[in-house]
Amino acid sequence: MPRQLPRLTGRPVMITGAASGIGRSLALRLNRLGSPVAVADVDATGLKQTAASLRGTVLTRVLDVSDAADQRKFADEVRDWLPAPLAAVFNNAGVALSSTVLDADPEDDNWLYDINFHGVVNGTRAFLPILVGQGEGVIVNTSSVFGLAGMPYQSAYCAAKFAVRGFTDSLRQELRGTGVSAVTVHPGGIKTNIVRNGRMRQDPEGRERSKEEMAASFEAIAMTTPDKAAQIIHRGVESGKARILVGPDAY
Ligand code: NAD
Repeated sequence: MPRQLPRLTGRPVMITGAASGIGRSLALRLNRLGSPVAVADVDATGLKQTAASLRGTVLTRVLDVSDAADQRKFADEVRDWLPAPLAAVFNNAGVALSSTVLDADPEDDNWLYDINFHGVVNGTRAFLPILVGQGEGVIVNTSSVFGLAGMPYQSAYCAAKFAVRGFTDSLRQELRGTGVSAVTVHPGGIKTNIVRNGRMRQDPEGRERSKEEMAASFEAIAMTTPDKAAQIIHRGVESGKARILVGPDAY
C-alpha cells in the first residue's frame, strides 16, 4: 500500500514560536494557503502582530512551552477549536545562548534546555494524543544544523538540538503503523531574531558578548529569509521527508 503523505495545505496546524521568525512565516504562509492556524508564543506583543495578519479560523495563545501543564491545557483548547483534523504540530519555539563550555552559567543552560528540549517534549506529549486519535498528522520538531554537528560556543544549544533529533527519531519509530509521523527540521542561517540577537537570560554584558559570538558563528553560513525557510519546511513536510534541512545545502 502506498505510504500516505502528510498534507498541510488548507488544513489546521498548530505552531509555537509564532510571534516572530520562522514560526511567524510558517503561520502566515499556511494561513494564506487556507489553513486554520493555532499560534502560540511567550511573546504576547509579537503574537498579536502575527495574529493581525491572519485570516479565517485562528486561535492565538500566550504560552511558555517549558510549562508542561499549560501545554496540555492548550492542547485541550486546540482540540475544542479544531474545525477539521489537525494536520501538523510545529514545536518550533526556541532560544539561543552563546558561551564557552567553561564560562557557561548552569542556570542559563537549564533555561535553554527547558525551552529548546523540554518545550519540544512537552508539546509532543500534549498534542500526540490528538493525532494518534485521528490516525493521521505529523509532529514537526525544530532542531538545527547544530543538531547534526557541533559548533564552538554553542554547546548547550547543540546538546538540546541533538536531543530533539534523538527524541524525534525514536518517536518516529514508535509511531510506525499509527498513521502519524514525526519529522525534524534543521535550519541554519535564517535571518531571524535568534541569529541577530542571540539571547542571554539575564546579564546585559553577556548579551552583547553573545551577539558577537553568534554573529561570528553564523558568518560562514549563507543566510536566507524566514519566508524561504517556511516554504522549504512546508514542502519538506508534504514530501514526507523525515529530516528537513533548511541550511546552506537547501538553497
Ligand atoms: P526567533 O527568535 O525569530 O523565533 C523564536 C520564537 O520562539 C520567538 O517568537 C520567541 O518569542 C519564541 N519563544 C522563545 N521562548 C519561548 C517559550 N518559552 N515559549 C514559547 N515561545 C518561546 O528565531 P527563529 O530563527 O525563527 O527560531 C525558530 C526555531 O528555529 C528555533 O527553535 C530555533 O532554535 C531554530 N533555528 C533557527 C535557526 C536560524 O538560523 N534562524 C537555526 C537553527 C535553528
